[in-house]
Amino acid sequence: MAQLAILEYPDPRLRTKAQPVTVFDAALKQQVADMFETMYAAPGIGLAATQVNWHHRLLVIDVSEDKNQPLVLINPEILEREGEATGEEGCLSVPGIYDDVPRAARVRVRARDVDGGTVEHDLTGMLAVCVQHEMDHLDGKLFVDYLSELKRQRIRKKLDKERRERGSARAGSGQQKRQ
Ligand code: ZN
Repeated sequence: MAQLAILEYPDPRLRTKAQPVTVFDAALKQQVADMFETMYAAPGIGLAATQVNWHHRLLVIDVSEDKNQPLVLINPEILEREGEATGEEGCLSVPGIYDDVPRAARVRVRARDVDGGTVEHDLTGMLAVCVQHEMDHLDGKLFVDYLSELKRQRIRKKLDKERRERGSARAGSGQQKRQ
């Protein structure tokens, strides 16, 4: 297994629209294993392939406290969305930034598993929010896109400053949920 490098905003590669997965082989299983390792190490609750510069429609999620409920969704599509849930989100590709994003409260998702089988999930709460956040990544969209341009400018400045001052303590470590 290997930990993968996570792209950070405003890296233009995060804007790539991911292609469907068509081959369900050992290499795909390895990619899934590497993405889980990378997500757990970050630490984060979700990771889309786009964030590790692999532009296929694959995402991994685990919102459990004990990191023992891994969920893999390949070529996911949302069949139904219901209600509204706005909560604070963070992102492994936008380190240290947290803000409110409007999402559906419940989603029904159809996807493939690592063996190519079709699965459907009814998701609510943090799982529903996380799936919507990760699916945005596959379309080249980031949670900061829901914020005002002024906020995005501030975020870019803050991240630039942190990159220049590499080695200094970075804001927002493992306390908050990132995906
Ligand atoms: Zn994210």
